[in-house]
Formats: sequence, C-alpha cells, structure tokens
Amino acid sequence: MERQGNIKISSENMMPIIKKWLYSDKDIFLREIVANASDAITKLSKLVALGETKNDAPFKITVTTDEKAGTLTVEDNGIGMTEDEVETYITQIAFSGAADFLEKYEKAGGDGIIGHFGLGFYSAYMVSERVEIFTKSYRDGAAAVHWDSDGESTYTIGECDKTARGTKIVMHIAKEEKEFLKENKVRELLRKYCSFMPYEIYLNPKGKEDDKPVNTTVPLYTKQPKECTEEEYKNFYRETFSDFNEPLFWIHLNMEYPFRLKGILYFPKVRKQVELERGQVKLYCNQVYIADNIKEVIPEFLMLLNGVIDCPDIPLNVSRSFLQNDRQVQKIAKHITKKVADKLSELFRNDREKYEACWSDLANFVKFGCIKDEDFYGKVKDIIIYKDLAGKYRPLESFFGEEVSDDDAKAGKEPQAVYYVSDENKQAQYVEMFREAGLDAIHCDTFIDPHFISYIEYKNPRKVRFLRIDADVAGALKEEGDADQELADLFTEALKEKKITVKAEKFKNASVPAVVNVSEFMRRMSEMNSFYKMGDMPEDITLVVNTNCEAVRAVKGAAEPARKTAAEYIYLLALMNYRPLTPEELTAFTETASLYMREYLQKQ
Ligand code: ADP
Repeated sequence: MERQGNIKISSENMMPIIKKWLYSDKDIFLREIVANASDAITKLSKLVALGETKNDAPFKITVTTDEKAGTLTVEDNGIGMTEDEVETYITQIAFSGAADFLEKYEKAGGDGIIGHFGLGFYSAYMVSERVEIFTKSYRDGAAAVHWDSDGESTYTIGECDKTARGTKIVMHIAKEEKEFLKENKVRELLRKYCSFMPYEIYLNPKGKEDDKPVNTTVPLYTKQPKECTEEEYKNFYRETFSDFNEPLFWIHLNMEYPFRLKGILYFPKVRKQVELERGQVKLYCNQVYIADNIKEVIPEFLMLLNGVIDCPDIPLNVSRSFLQNDRQVQKIAKHITKKVADKLSELFRNDREKYEACWSDLANFVKFGCIKDEDFYGKVKDIIIYKDLAGKYRPLESFFGEEVSDDDAKAGKEPQAVYYVSDENKQAQYVEMFREAGLDAIHCDTFIDPHFISYIEYKNPRKVRFLRIDADVAGALKEEGDADQELADLFTEALKEKKITVKAEKFKNASVPAVVNVSEFMRRMSEMNSFYKMGDMPEDITLVVNTNCEAVRAVKGAAEPARKTAAEYIYLLALMNYRPLTPEELTAFTETASLYMREYLQKQ
C-alpha cells in the first residue's frame, strides 16, 4: 500500500533558488549522493564491529547510467532505512537540512560556502525531476521501502520488493541535464569527487571479474608515512596531479591531535622562472573531495605547491568569512606552514647538496612565503641562500654586517651594504671590478628578488641595505684618499648639458676611466613605476671618474674643444657599461672614436 504525504517544510520556493545559485556547481550532487552511500556503509560496518549485525558481502557502491530510461542510479549495501527512518531522515531531515543550507547560503552572500558542501540528499534535485529511493534496513524483518518524490511538495511512500540490504537512489534526470546520463561524464565526476572514497565504487559494472573500481579506497596519504615507499609517493603524485615531472620532495602530514589532519604536500619542479606558478592543493573531508586551493584554509603561498589535505575537522558548510576567523582553521594553517618550514630546514641541515640543487625551484616559493607570512619568514630566514660572485651558495644572513647600534643609527650611520648583481651580462664590467678588488656580491636575478630584498631590508633595518652592483661601485672600490674636486669640477663643466652629478675618486683599478653609479632609491622607484605602468622616471646618474686612470688625468691638461670631447667620450664609455646607448649617444660615440683613431694612426 502506497500512501502520500506532504513535505512539511515550504520547499516550493527552494528549488528554483537552489538551481539558480548552485548552477555552476551542480556537479556536486553526485558527490553528495555517493558520500551518503559511503556513510551508510560506514554505519553498518560499525554495527558489525559491535557485533550487532552480520555482513558477508564485500562493501561497495554501484553507479549505473541508463540513457534509455533516463536514470542515474547509486546503490549501496550499507545500513538501509526503515519506513520510519525514511520519513524522518529523508522527508524531514534531508529537506529541512536543505532549507538550513539555503539559509546559511543566503547569509553567506551567494558563493560563500566552500564546494557547496553539505547540501546532501536534496542536491539530487538540481539535476533530477524526480527521485526514487528503494531501501531495506539491516534490522531483522524490516520491510523494504519505496519513496518517490518530485522534490517540490508531495511524495509517496510504501513497501517494495527489494531483497538486498542497503539503499538504491534512482535519479530521473531532467531533460536539460541529459549529460549526467553519459557514462564518461559520470566517470569524470566520480574521478573528481570520489577518487579516494573508502569503499569501492563501480560504474556500470558488467558483473565480470575484470570490473575495476573507479577509486582508490586507501589513498597513500591515509597510510602511515613509514609504510610508504618513495616509488609510491611518486606514483601518487603522477596520478593525482597528472604531472609527469618528478616532484622534488614531499611532506607527509599525519596528525590526530589536537585536530585530525592528513595529507601530502609536494614541491614541484618549476617550469617558468618568470612568474609564480600556481599549484593545486586539493582539500578533502574524510576522503571526499571538496575543492581546490581554498585560501581560507591553506595559506596562499602554499598553493604554489601541489598536494592533498584531508581535514575532517574543518567546518565546511559555513561561510568563507566564518572560516577565515575560525581559530581551529587558523591553527591548522599554522601547523601546515610549520611543517613545511621544518621540512625545508631539515633538508638544509641534512642534505645540503640536494637543497642547493633544488634551490632554484624552491626559491620563489620560499621568498614569496616570507613576504606573505611573517611566521614562515621567522622559521626559514637562516636557510635562504644566495650565490656569491664565485658561484657558491651561502646563507643570505652571512652577507650581513654588524647590527648598527641605536647611537650610531641616530648619528646617521647606515648598515653595511650588500651588493647584488641582477644581470650578469649587463653588469659584467662591475662584476669584474668587484672581483679584482676582492669584493663580493650576491646574484639576485629572479623576478621576485626586487620585492624580496625590499622585504629583507624592512625586516632588518639595522643589519642590511642592498645596493645593485652599479649603484655605488665607486663607494665600494675607491682607495682611501681625498677626492679630486678640481677634476670633478672640470668634468661637471664639460658635461653640464647632461644633467648628471660628477665625482672624482681614486680607484684601486687604474684601467677603468669612469663608472656610472645609479641611485638605488631612484632606480627602485623607476622599476616600480614601470611595474605599475606609471611611466618612466628620469635617470639619476652619477659619473665617478677614476683619478688613478691616466686617460682621465690627461683630460686635465687638454684645452677646449678637446677637453669637452674627451670628457663626453669617457662619460659614454662608462654609460655603455650601464645601459645600451641611445642612437644619438651612439653617433656621438662613434664619431669621437673614429676621430681618436685617425689621429692616433696619423701619429704612427
Ligand atoms: P546528511 O547526510 O548531511 O545528514 P542528507 O540530506 O544527505 O544529510 O541525508 C539525510 C539523512 O538521510 C542522512 O543523515 C541519512 O540518515 C539518510 N540517508 C541518506 N542517504 C542514505 C543512504 N544511502 N543510506 C542510508 N541512509 C541514508
């Protein structure tokens, strides 16, 4: 005998809203239905463990598509439901659960709930015009039940002849949602959401021995780290992220207290050095996939990694803004960050060779992480390494000078400069001069370095300031002794149209006539301007002529116009080591060069 009932809560208005809001995410219905099936099996297996009932068949979930009948069916051999339970759990709980969800969803302002987790059974109606349930409880003598509803306001319920224990959900797929009847589509969804669910899931099984489940019931991350081999970690990486490059190394997270957290984070090989490459951190809840790259749970910089994180303690059916302020979630994020820093430190200490070999792949991640997260910086600051001029890696802090005391700082003393090379080819002359003088500099040549060194200066205002190798080369290279003001004035006069500052200093090296220094501050400003596309800034150039160079001293004795020509020539020589000459500069340079050559050759 079938009887009819009214769905008690006012669900008439719910459907259109749910359909509209969740439109882009309606795929999740399958996850919700399969997750219910999985929960039903877990419940039964607990009863079996308690000796309350028996089970002889292997646990499994079967998903079947039937294009002709227009149905998608999910069947489990779990706990099943009695008629009373269907009334309570489905007609009341599932529907009021959906109403609760909707209320939270409205409060969260639209797309607020992560992966639309928790909509439950009702989500089947996002793609179905009608849903039937056939279920038989594990309880002795329980009659099998049939429930049928279009999800709007009424349902029928009655007995049926299902013999096997468990629940079968038959979704009559709506006309516009026909794609959910296609085996490939369903397979894709099962792979995405159900790959790691704990019971075998079969899609359209033929009933033969070669039927294979679509999922892995014991994904690697659920095992104890010591049980896992290197090969298994690599395979898991390849299968989960379809990246055929081997990961550099990984961190297996596994804790029970004070919250449950399992997962593996992989450090991928970097493909492009010119930008941050976004990774993929997949979030799971009890082996059910929720979503990728949830920044409310996982610190943003960690999303440069690839990984899976399973954290059943995170409340996922709450709004994103709630999550952001949730203490538990903050603790989880901190814990993950600490684990990553620990792993990097461990590698630095125990396998320096590997650490250095991986550094170019790690550096962007570490530097970005420092900028984004002070705690992370605090934990890894000793293990940030840079190459010196000899090409050898050294910890950045080993380049720092003594900390400037309060008194000295008040008197205007600046911390010791660390010189850096941002482009070895363009700055070759400077590098050479540094080498000859036995001075060192670091290679800062990745796109993130300009931001990173500013950050380091900001964090260590008394310990370090960075100067590009061409910013104050004269300051670094000059010999003790007075500057030659007369020579400086003479060059200033000769070059007055160039609007530059001139200094005359004695360098250790006698062969270089002059170098161009570019104000570090103005250069950084100008780089920032072009980064934000705000237009070019004027160059702020200082020409430092070398009083130790014979050619420079000779300018002193020359008369006009030879003096002006020589001064300009020396300026262009220095300039071309700093940047490519403009067409006008190049013409002037070539003319003077050929003039000098002619006169020199005529004298021979
Ligand atoms: P939730 O799973 O979050 O409780 P649902 O709307 O998904 O909410 O389901 C409501 C209830 O219906 C479940 O708690 C469960 O008791 C029951 N139920 C749903 N699907 C099944 C199933 N396949 N087998 C047994 N019980 C089920």
